[in-house]
Amino acid sequence: MPAPGETLRGRNVALYPGGKGANQAVAAARLGAAVSLYGKVGDDPFGKRLIDGLRGAGVDVGDVEIEPETASGLASIWVDAKGDNAIVVSAGANGRVDTEYVERHLKRITDADVLLLQLEVPIETVAFLLGALPLAEPLVVLDPAPAHDLSALPLSRIDVLTPNEAELRIVGEDDDFEAGARRLLDAGIEEVVCTVGAEGAVWFPSGRPAVRFPAPKVDVVDTTAAGDAFNGALAWALHRRSLEEAIPFAIAAGALATTAGGAQPSLPGLEAVLSFLASSEDAHD
Ligand code: ADP
Repeated sequence: MPAPGETLRGRNVALYPGGKGANQAVAAARLGAAVSLYGKVGDDPFGKRLIDGLRGAGVDVGDVEIEPETASGLASIWVDAKGDNAIVVSAGANGRVDTEYVERHLKRITDADVLLLQLEVPIETVAFLLGALPLAEPLVVLDPAPAHDLSALPLSRIDVLTPNEAELRIVGEDDDFEAGARRLLDAGIEEVVCTVGAEGAVWFPSGRPAVRFPAPKVDVVDTTAAGDAFNGALAWALHRRSLEEAIPFAIAAGALATTAGGAQPSLPGLEAVLSFLASSEDAHD
């Protein structure tokens, strides 16, 4: 890692499309969902590449706006010879997804069956959107990543919150993640499902003890985008199934995503998830 003022020679540069919203949109599209992505890219070559990639994955990008004189959201990740990394994230055009943007696209957004949200856009925009939605539909799944204080949000409009363990400690404001989940439920969130990596996920049903859903054992290659695979698959499955049935499906998609390298290339298709689920059930019998 370079110290301030120092210049080092790098060995390799690789460029990957990403962003939680984009990864989750691709995850759901790969399962066969009709997905529209809402957001902004910058007017730079990265933005064009992101849009082309999403379109190629079957995601409708008709409402993605190109923000003039702004860079696309970008994470620069330096990896040293030991594998340690240092990351700088620039919000770029994501930071310009404002309430006016939501107003321009609200009609189509509210037509969706399921709305899957992340926190890579300003929290005020998420708050405004949740407040502007009709009360019953669409179903709202919020992945509180990167973790942010949720107190500005109308929490009762969130149907399912899907933090990982570290995020739950922050958004639940408690080192005991179960206590944090209970506090969020008391504050009005309908359901909290916490992903716990190789352990699968924990569901905290209101007024009942937590339910653990194990993850199948897999040969892990790269856990990048496992959470995104989980969220995209959960949104897809919730359109058709109860939460209790959707969680194992999402866990299977997350586990499968760890068995291949990269973010978007590792996201599994429907056949792969269904046959993986069937074979891991056989292994349990
Ligand atoms: P994030 O990627 O957001 O930190 P997690 O690490 O909790 O989220 O992983 C999300 C989901 O991906 C888990 O619920 C699980 O289904 C799957 N997963 C992640 N790591 C593993 C692993 N080592 N083995 C099997 N499944 C995994």
